[in-house]
Amino acid sequence: MAIAPIKTALPLDEEIVEAKSSQSRLIILALALGLFGAALNSYPIELAYSVSLVIGNLAFIIAAAYLRPALTLLCALICVAPLLVLWGHPFGFLTFGCEALFISYMRGRGWYLPTADFLYWLIIGMPMTAVIIWLNTSESQEYLLFSLFKQSINAVFYTALGVIFIFVFSDKLNGWVKSQQPKLMKNLKQYLHYILWIMSAFFVIGVCLFLSRNLNEIQQQQIEDKIDISSQYLGRIVESYVDDHTKAVAQIANELSAIEPSRYNDALVKIHQLYPGFITMLVTNQEANIVASSPRILMKDIPQSGVSVADRSYFTEAFFNQSVYVSPVFLGRGFGADPIIAISAPIYVKNNNEPAGVVEGSLNLNLFEKVNSYAANDREIDVVLTDGNDNVIYAESSLGLSQLSKFNFTFNQHTNSNNFMIIESNGSNNIRYLYRQVTLNNGWKIFVLIEHKQILKLIEQQYLTIFISLFLIFMLVVLLANQFANTLNKPLVFALNELAHGDGKTGYKAIPYDAPTEFLTLYDELQQSKEKLLKQQFILEEKVSKRTKDLNKANKALKELANIDSLTGLYNRRYLEDKFSELQAILSRNNAAMVVAMLDLDHFKKLNDEYGHLIGDNCLAYISGVMKRKFDRRSDIVARFGGEEFIIVTQSDDQNGVIQKLEEFREELAQHSFPHLSHQFVGITISIGVVTANAKFSADIDDWISLADEQLYQAKHNGRNQLASNILTNVSKD
Ligand code: GH3
Ligand code: MG
Ligand code: MG
Repeated sequence: MAIAPIKTALPLDEEIVEAKSSQSRLIILALALGLFGAALNSYPIELAYSVSLVIGNLAFIIAAAYLRPALTLLCALICVAPLLVLWGHPFGFLTFGCEALFISYMRGRGWYLPTADFLYWLIIGMPMTAVIIWLNTSESQEYLLFSLFKQSINAVFYTALGVIFIFVFSDKLNGWVKSQQPKLMKNLKQYLHYILWIMSAFFVIGVCLFLSRNLNEIQQQQIEDKIDISSQYLGRIVESYVDDHTKAVAQIANELSAIEPSRYNDALVKIHQLYPGFITMLVTNQEANIVASSPRILMKDIPQSGVSVADRSYFTEAFFNQSVYVSPVFLGRGFGADPIIAISAPIYVKNNNEPAGVVEGSLNLNLFEKVNSYAANDREIDVVLTDGNDNVIYAESSLGLSQLSKFNFTFNQHTNSNNFMIIESNGSNNIRYLYRQVTLNNGWKIFVLIEHKQILKLIEQQYLTIFISLFLIFMLVVLLANQFANTLNKPLVFALNELAHGDGKTGYKAIPYDAPTEFLTLYDELQQSKEKLLKQQFILEEKVSKRTKDLNKANKALKELANIDSLTGLYNRRYLEDKFSELQAILSRNNAAMVVAMLDLDHFKKLNDEYGHLIGDNCLAYISGVMKRKFDRRSDIVARFGGEEFIIVTQSDDQNGVIQKLEEFREELAQHSFPHLSHQFVGITISIGVVTANAKFSADIDDWISLADEQLYQAKHNGRNQLASNILTNVSKD
């Protein structure tokens, strides 16, 4: 295996190190946010009895803006851990874990966090919570709607808070960590929607929760006061009810002690009318036999031998202890099955310290009319009255407690400040109550209860209000943001269109919408600078086109200079070769014949030597002019080949016209005299070698020239001033 050269290995290492460090920073971010959220979640904000607001979850909302689902989930699980302890169930891991995964995934697909979170709670969070509560058959089923509202509002709140955090700290975080999530591109309208919605959600929920917290505190205080007052008030009523009747029995005993036993019956009936609280009253003699009773009907069923109550505590206690006696509660016998207490007192006869019997009244405890009406008037409050043995004397029917059964309840320490009582009643679920307990003089207890659900109902209504107002505000924000964005967007789009397609326009249209003044000024400025720019551009273009023209002219001149011989004005040798190729190609295509003539002045050296170079030059210029005029077709090529040698290339015609023209030229020249000095004339002749062939003969000019040169040599050799011609009939060179 080849060893990688160090040069290429080094940068790779650096990349890996960089990737590793950015990876570890992402993990650190997830952990740090998780711990931060967990710290916040450890101290939930209590809003009311056992209802608290969780804000630590904002940490995984922030995480979702930077991290992919796996790391966001890690952050969320750390965040939620304290809730396991506080709530006593692990379902937070499920709902919030799914929330973290969902929003991070959706953020990765370009969704906004608040929208993704709202969607999560709507389609996953709320149904999932409902199912969890439903399956988890506990007391909390009753608070289903409440829990759902609370959970979602809570979520919207911490999401808004999280997004605000991102707004504030994004610059710092972006510098430190490389986000795994894509950038969100927002247009103006989306941006406004986003900001307005976040701000309004945050403030609406914040203010509502703050107000409702205060309201709840007041309500809580009111409720506590109410059950305090109620319990004491009811305590008094019950106490005085029993006390009054106890005093009454003592009083009745005194009154009966003052009259003859034969009048007991009449007296008892009269007295009973004054105390309707007694269901029955009776008087016994020393032998514990009933001697009088009220109502009278009681006596009808009593046999002649009498009924003895010697075994009853109300007789023995009052008779033998000679004191007023109040019995524990028991269910009446013979006269209904109501819970009663028996109150008895000894009766005396004149001048006798030994009791002559007892008077007893059975106090009907179902006749707590005042208690009943008090509790019935106040639907929030439930009342339970128990005797010293915790047996139920009185309980509101809604509680489902049977009379004289044991009052079973447990306490439930929910938070540090609030105690709840859970009543175990047959049939129904265990219900949680806020309670007050008052112990009366006789050991009885009064419990005043308010169902926890009642309190939560009040908060539920508040939450419903928040939820509805949030929804309304959401609609309002959408409208407002649309309107607002349109105000900015329409003029902007109009102005951009005007400026973009306004090239060469003389004037720009005014913006036909209401637009902010800064905006109008900007539009004006842009118009002016665009006009200036266009003017500049126009001037520049003018300059450039003029320069280009000049340059073209100069170029053309230069080209001509390069191609044309300055003395004769004929094409030079280099240009001859180019032109020859063009002509040869065209004639080849047409299968036409081509003539190449080579012309050389005779004894020109001598002319120069005898008459001077000047006349030589003039001679060359003159001859050139004549040749140009003779061969003036556009395709004809007349070139100076060198010194006093010329080449003519032209298309051959059938009548041998080219040869004739050359001959004419030769003859004309031979007869021409050049003036020299005074009255002296100089003549010159020319020899011409011509080759005629199909153009396809050769594309190389040298092949043609050498043949023409051969003919020229012949002409010179044969005595000069003549034309020698060679016509090739074979197309091929060979
Ligand atoms: P022949 O008849 O054999 O062609 O004899 P010739 O003298 O013409 O031939 P040669 O090649 O010996 O001489 C050519 C002369 O042409 C030499 C030079 O002085 C003259 N010559 C070449 N170019 C120029 C020019 O531009 N101007 C002038 N005045 N003379 C030129
Ligand atoms: Mg020559
Ligand atoms: Mg010559």
